[in-house]
Amino acid sequence: MLIVNLQHPYENQIFQMTNDLLPDAFLQQMKRLLSEEELQLFLQALDQKARVSIRLNPEKLKEVPYEAKPLPWCPWAFVLRERPVFTMDPFFHSGAYYVQEASSNFLWQVLHQIAIPASSLALDLCAAPGGKTTLISSFLGDEGLVVANEVIKGRSKILKENVIKWGAANVVLTQNDPSHFSDLAGAFDVVLVDAPCSGEGLFRKDPNAIREWSAENVMICQGRQQRILRQAAELPRPGGYLIYSTCTYNRQENEENVRYLVENFGYEKVSLSLPDQWNIIRSEVLVGKESYPSYRFYPHQVDGEGLFMTILRRPGSEDSAAQVRRSRDFNHPHLSRFSINKKQEAKFPSLSFPFDIKLYRYEHHIFALNAAWAPVFEMLASKLNVQYFGVELGDWVKEKFLPAHAWALSMYPISAYPSVEISEEDAIMYLKKEPITLSIRDKGWVLVKHKGLNLGWVKNLGMRSNNYYPKEWRIRMQ
Ligand code: SAM
Repeated sequence: MLIVNLQHPYENQIFQMTNDLLPDAFLQQMKRLLSEEELQLFLQALDQKARVSIRLNPEKLKEVPYEAKPLPWCPWAFVLRERPVFTMDPFFHSGAYYVQEASSNFLWQVLHQIAIPASSLALDLCAAPGGKTTLISSFLGDEGLVVANEVIKGRSKILKENVIKWGAANVVLTQNDPSHFSDLAGAFDVVLVDAPCSGEGLFRKDPNAIREWSAENVMICQGRQQRILRQAAELPRPGGYLIYSTCTYNRQENEENVRYLVENFGYEKVSLSLPDQWNIIRSEVLVGKESYPSYRFYPHQVDGEGLFMTILRRPGSEDSAAQVRRSRDFNHPHLSRFSINKKQEAKFPSLSFPFDIKLYRYEHHIFALNAAWAPVFEMLASKLNVQYFGVELGDWVKEKFLPAHAWALSMYPISAYPSVEISEEDAIMYLKKEPITLSIRDKGWVLVKHKGLNLGWVKNLGMRSNNYYPKEWRIRMQ
């Protein structure tokens, strides 16, 4: 093993070269992608620690809370000087930021340059753990809607947790195989396929990715990606966009899939204009006489990990989406519209959303959704396995209301209950689900905040309070 001292303004530690772990077939493949000189720089970069980046939740936090430098391709993203202990940061738990690998934030630049309108309906087909979902959600804001789908049940749980922490009302979570979307052909303004891949771009973050890599697995991944893309290619409306990304370098899972989309579905090219100093590599696929650009990120050139992204436009301009999005009679086995009558009003909390809302009931859980999206949501709910949507307000049981943690973490004002600001020490106690003493006399439900951001609920009993932080989310670190 070699030991080298690599100087980087944000990393000046000594790292051990572990390149001897890299499979020979992988090195041969990289030799075909990079010049000899670049390959050396690439291999050196693999032996540096991956840098840590966060993306701010613009509705919750305006300034980066750590020593950091901004990322040029996303106004909300920052590369941190050092890795903090996120678990012990109350901001992390209140959804003030998302810890996201820097290159992935390039999606902001894509949405910005193709000028996706705020009122768009977006689909994130491979969404867990939710990095790109939260980015799209912030990009669109309250006017838009994001359908975030994750086929693997175990992974949809972490997606739900991250979406709840982010706190926007504009996400509908589904757990479906891409084939289940076939009735929704042409329904979406933009579809993102951030595909499961061989993960070459994550080698320095995750040594397991090196161990699992093989040339055969690359081909298995390509087959899976093409099965997903075959479904996804039908989903944008004419004139809408398909964004395809992976965190791997090989051409089979990247440019070859761009070729697959163009040759089989007639997708059109979309070019971005990027400053040279960003060091993002433009790669071209020639299909017939036309050249289709994609964007490649290498760790020796950018402050991030490996990423590939391409943007394609579905041919045509007629707006067929409205037709597909039309809602029919809403008749769902578990989900129903919900309203409160005059008598119940006194027991139901007053709501202060900055847009008209429609309420729904799933068993005893009550959800709020932007009323403008209700017809589309009802259509989606009749075709897909919806796991979560809008903001869960709370439980309505025997005419009694119990506020939900998701409501506390939402980005909208809550005027129905008193709130109390607590110290950092108490915030950590609260997040560990330990009892805390409040400096407030109001009995009943109280919203706990730290530095102005909501952490969750307590039920104040006077001398003591019951901590309602979700047990499965509590900090276990000592
Ligand atoms: N977009 C996510 C983000 O930014 O946080 C990361 C997505 S990850 C690269 C790919 C996701 O695709 C995984 O969550 C994985 O469970 C899911 N997946 C695996 N097999 C799939 C399949 N056959 N169809 C759709 N998604 C699949």
